Amino acid sequence: VTNFADKKVAVFGLGGSGLLTARALKAGGAHVIAYDDAPLKNEQARAAGIETANLADIDWTGIAALVLSPGVPLTHPTPHWTVQRAQLEGVEVIGDIELFCRERAAQTSKLGVDCPLVAITGTNGKSTTTALTAHLIAHAGRDAQMGGNIGVPALALEPFAPGRHYVLEVSSYQVDLAPSLRPTVGVLINVSADHIDRHGTIENYAAIKTLVVAQVEPGGTAVVGVDDRWSREAADRVERAGRNVVRVSVEGPVRDGYFAEGARIMRANAGKPFPAAQLTGIGSLRGQHNAQNAACAIAACVALGIDLPAIQKGLVSFPGLAHRMQAVGRKKTAAGHILYVNDSKATNADSTSKALASFTDIFWIAGGKPKSGGIESLSEFWPRIRKAYLIGEAADAFAKTLDGKVDHQIEGMLSKAIDAATRDAEASGLKEAVVLLSPACASFDQFPNFEVRGQAFADLVRAVPGVEPV
Ligand code: ADP
Repeated sequence: VTNFADKKVAVFGLGGSGLLTARALKAGGAHVIAYDDAPLKNEQARAAGIETANLADIDWTGIAALVLSPGVPLTHPTPHWTVQRAQLEGVEVIGDIELFCRERAAQTSKLGVDCPLVAITGTNGKSTTTALTAHLIAHAGRDAQMGGNIGVPALALEPFAPGRHYVLEVSSYQVDLAPSLRPTVGVLINVSADHIDRHGTIENYAAIKTLVVAQVEPGGTAVVGVDDRWSREAADRVERAGRNVVRVSVEGPVRDGYFAEGARIMRANAGKPFPAAQLTGIGSLRGQHNAQNAACAIAACVALGIDLPAIQKGLVSFPGLAHRMQAVGRKKTAAGHILYVNDSKATNADSTSKALASFTDIFWIAGGKPKSGGIESLSEFWPRIRKAYLIGEAADAFAKTLDGKVDHQIEGMLSKAIDAATRDAEASGLKEAVVLLSPACASFDQFPNFEVRGQAFADLVRAVPGVEPV
């Protein structure tokens, strides 16, 4: 990162991406002073040749910027205090995406090259849409670099080069700290009242998310999912400001943009719709929520000049993301087969509702460390559930909710739940029985995180006699 060469920069937060940011700034000739609340992280930074100092008591004179790591919670008193002090001294406060954007502007004009940037945000579906967009671009034979809030931090991506595309998932935290974000294609999938702790109100949160589409570069495209009030208003506002807006809906037709008719994605031009893509049979994109994600990704790729036949081919080969309704095994039965689905990422009832809405005849493995609200909100899906197998701390509470409504048993352990669900699914005589891990709970009672829980599920499923990988 060269745009702070010979300047003093402070970096707050030295987790993986904070340390990377500090090193990138230093490599670009900046004088970096870094700090983290955890003494060990400061030690690690010093071992990497980065100077550290408690930013709460430094003199801000002569410091050009304060760079906050994506993981730094602004509600925490130390950064909050530090940020206020820096702001009072007129120091700009930015994040790693801002550094990326400035570097993109500097390098592309220096090299005289074009590096399209797709920035994707939304309350839900960010990772899926980002991974799918990058996959479709790569599948069309272009160089796609994917990162940001998913996988690799933006500053760790391959350097700017002719025709290289960057697909970034950006959280509202990152957008908030990236005033120079000017994507070629900005995507706002949806907005709902989640994560509003830092941004205060839903209006404020929506306004920050809207920047991703409001700030598309001249000639660029704003792709907006218009199925919620905030995104709908954002689309209208951005359009009034003279930007090219492509609307996406899974609830009904749009005049200009994309909409889902079941598993078919339609494209409409001036009120005239025609079929654009087909999601039928694509296991990694099941469900209406994935139709929303796919339609957003398709719209972004068309805006980049990729044609629909190439997009359709890319859709078919999309492997999906691990732990999000991921098919991990299939077992033939006398009547048909059992499909095993790992949805370990579903740590609350709302996420689980997407999975329950996407399958019928479900043998449901649920439970873990309970979240407030429980699973009462899922009652509309009870008819789809053949039986529930309850694990972890939430088992008793879930059993109470299901009593008299859904057949269930308490299993405690994931391995026992898989065995019991397999036995029942086999005996059910169904053409397609789905054994679904969609816990509606955090994992921390039995696993370090949802990834380990999902991996344990996948490993156990693959050890079931007769299960083949999918
Ligand atoms: P994010 O990166 O925004 O957390 P993911 O793509 O990782 O989103 O999906 C996480 C979970 O969120 C999925 O397992 C599903 O339950 C839910 N989800 C995904 N896409 C959508 C969407 N478009 N609308 C609502 N919920 C979604």
